This record gives sequence, C-alpha cells and structure tokens, in this order.
Amino acid sequence: MYIIFLGAPGAGKGTQAAAIASDLNLAHVASGDLFRKALEQKTELGLQAKSYMEKGLLVPDEVTIQMVMERLAAPDCARGAIFDGFPRTLPQAKALDKALAGRGAAIDQVIYIKVGEEELLKRLSGRWICRRCQTPYHEVTNPPKVREKCDKCGGELYQRADDTVEAVKKRLQVYLAETAPLIDYYTAAGKLFEVDGQGGVEEVRQRIAAVISRQFIRR
Ligand code: AMP
Repeated sequence: MYIIFLGAPGAGKGTQAAAIASDLNLAHVASGDLFRKALEQKTELGLQAKSYMEKGLLVPDEVTIQMVMERLAAPDCARGAIFDGFPRTLPQAKALDKALAGRGAAIDQVIYIKVGEEELLKRLSGRWICRRCQTPYHEVTNPPKVREKCDKCGGELYQRADDTVEAVKKRLQVYLAETAPLIDYYTAAGKLFEVDGQGGVEEVRQRIAAVISRQFIRR
C-alpha cells in the first residue's frame, strides 16, 4: 500500500504520516528528513541541498527523485510506504508513478491535509523539533513537559533554520506555485482525499484513519 501525505508546510504531514506509518506498519519516507540527515552528515547530497533548503526553495527534481528512489529500493518499502513531503512537483509525481508501475504497484491514496494560511504561519513560527526522533512540538499549542527536551526520547529540541518568518513565507509561495497543482493531478486520478487539518493532533489522526479505512471497505 502506497499513500502520499500532501499539504502545505506546517499542515501536520510529518506528525500524521509518522503516526499512520506506525499504525499500518509501513515505511515512513520523509524527503525533508532525508535531506536534513544528509546535511547533518555533510554528504555530497547534503551539500547539494543546503542552499535550497536554507532559502525555503525546492531542491532540484533530479536530485530529489534519485534520493527518494534509493530510499524506495530499501527492503522496508517492499510492502508499501507513506510518502511525506514527496512528491512536491508534477515531474516528481510522474517519476513516482513510473517507479511504482515498474514494481507492479501504484499510489493507492493521497491524503490532502488542508489548513488555512494564518494557522500555518502560527504553527511554523513556534515549532520545535527533536533532533533525535523528529517529534515536533509547539511552544504555545503543544509544549514539551521540560523546556527544549523531547517528551518521548529525551532528545534535544531545536528550531529549524527554515522556520524563520522569511523562509516560511517563501516555502508557502513555493508550495502554492509548485505543489498545489498536484491536488488537481491526483483528483483527476480519483485518488485525492481531503481532510480538515485544523484541530488537535489526535482529532486529525482519527479523521485520516477514517478516510483510509473507508477506502479499504470500498474495495
Ligand atoms: P520539509 O521537511 O518537508 O518541509 O522539507 C524541508 C526542505 O527540504 C524543503 O523546504 C526543500 O528545500 C527540501 N525538500 C523536501 N522535500 C522536497 C521535495 N520533494 N522536492 C524538493 N525539495 C524538497
């Protein structure tokens, strides 16, 4: 089973994709996490991605597609995967369709998490993330029990370099120009399911779980 989580930066894709991947026992393929790991390890890929990420721009398609395809070839993706942050452009979506068709599979569902722009800006500007397990927190709506420490693993919390007001605005612009057209692409394919992303994490998770199980029942 292959599911894509689509939505603007700050819509909650990372949080929800991690929870659903764990519920369904599927691999969680998060392109932003893969880039951040490469950046931390100072690999060639990390160096290529660095300047784009800092400015809130998309890393070029060839680089991104190759990275995700390598991840998809890992054994834990054989049963399926939850894609989070990928695809973000039409060429990426088409490359993914082609790669899955090559293994006799296809995207089953695209969960589009919809959140208003004002709320997105609010969420991103107060976001803190665990360096070790990537769990996100928010200084107002979802603070950790101990300041700058992850409730789950005790790891150190940090603020992403691209969560500055300037980079966030750029990321939202890029989303509207490059990624929002994917909504039409997957609607035309009959695969898009819109979920209201406003509200608490658990509330949204239940909405998503209901949409995924409805799809199973329909088969
Ligand atoms: P994210 O954690 O998904 O918000 O991604 C952080 C940054 O990584 C983005 O702002 C881009 O610079 C880069 N990135 C992540 N996924 C992609 C993608 N599918 N295509 C191009 N760039 C990406």
